[in-house]
Amino acid sequence: MHELGLCDAMLKMMDQILEKEDSAACRVRRVVLEIGELSGVVPHFMEESWKAVTDRTHYADALLEISTVPGYADCLDCGAHLRPAQSGFKCPECGGGKLKPVSGIDMTVRSIEVWDEE
Ligand SMILES: [Zn+2]
Repeated sequence: MHELGLCDAMLKMMDQILEKEDSAACRVRRVVLEIGELSGVVPHFMEESWKAVTDRTHYADALLEISTVPGYADCLDCGAHLRPAQSGFKCPECGGGKLKPVSGIDMTVRSIEVWDEE
């Protein structure tokens, strides 16, 4: 399960961003994460890891919102454009298994919202 490591890296990255934006003292309200279908990251594990790594940190109250981005691939045998997660990771046209992922490969932090200080 590499989600734990990913969450850890994410927190470090967010720390850096907030520091640069001079918002290090702000409390984070919501983090929006986009997970590509072909990224190998499991959203459910990501949520669990998030809870584990943010426990007792200043991110503990932050809500993690995950949206899944559809992943597409090209078949190297017949050139078909397909969505592997829906075709059992095989080409629905020729049955080939040589697929080249073209999108939905990444995990992206889309936004980090902080509470406005009043
Ligand atoms: Zn094919």
